[in-house]
Amino acid sequence: MSESVDLTLAGVKSIEKIWPRFMRYTPLNVDRGKLLDEALSVDLVPTPRKVLSPDNVDSTRKCRYLWNIGHMTEECQALKDKIKDLI
Ligand SMILES: [Zn+2]
Repeated sequence: MSESVDLTLAGVKSIEKIWPRFMRYTPLNVDRGKLLDEALSVDLVPTPRKVLSPDNVDSTRKCRYLWNIGHMTEECQALKDKIKDLI
């Protein structure tokens, strides 16, 4: 049914294991991947450091923020939190 539910449970090695820090996320009318590119281009966010990917995750799903796999950039909890910090 849902394809993304178990991602946050996938790996204890991921910092995205941390539960969402905010109850509400401002709906964005741009995609987070684009926002990430723009934020990086003006040094609004530090260049992401690589985070270990959990084992046995879907390697076709890549996060450009944490440079790991198992989820898409759009679903990145850490990126959501960062964007929330910025707005
Ligand atoms: Zn991520």
